[in-house]
Amino acid sequence: MFYPKDIKNLIDEFSKFPGIGPKSAQRFVFYLLRKSPEDIEKLTLSLKGIKNIHICSVCGNFSDQNICSICQDKNRDHSVVAVIAEPQDLMAIEKTGEYQGTYHVLGGLIDMIENKSPEQIKIKELLIRLKNSSIKELIFALNATIEGESTILYITNLIKEDKILSSKIKLTRIARGLPLGGELEYADEITLTEALKGRRGI
Ligand SMILES: [Zn+2]
Repeated sequence: MFYPKDIKNLIDEFSKFPGIGPKSAQRFVFYLLRKSPEDIEKLTLSLKGIKNIHICSVCGNFSDQNICSICQDKNRDHSVVAVIAEPQDLMAIEKTGEYQGTYHVLGGLIDMIENKSPEQIKIKELLIRLKNSSIKELIFALNATIEGESTILYITNLIKEDKILSSKIKLTRIARGLPLGGELEYADEITLTEALKGRRGI
């Protein structure tokens, strides 16, 4: 089908987005073609602004400054660090409003199938951070998958091998169990086992 070059280019660009095929990309472009020049300018400025976003030098979160607002926040508990895979996980935890500690974004999980090795995620950076700070607790908040489990195992082994680190840092993980509204009868054995292990007093 014939499109002017600029339309075709934009469709091609949108098609590169995760989960977006040529049809959706085309829909985005036709949506934009109906927008006012002011709206297009706003979108252009937002896109350009992305260039100023970089990675926080402490935690690995996205930030428009060298150190992100969470790491700079004196009201947060800097002795507690949640280890997460991606910045999106940070947003999910922040939304609960329940967590007052800080974060360490690994930038992925160890994945043997996808050839993602420990060196490719920010484990080295985590260990350096642990050695140079007064962090008392690491909370592993990773996906309940083989990759999440392998990553937890790998990092906890490294810490346990280090006498100084293992004596000063408590290692914990978020509880797992039945989702809200989940029925016991239909839960798989691993979920039920984890739910039993993670039981607490009432
Ligand atoms: Zn940060």
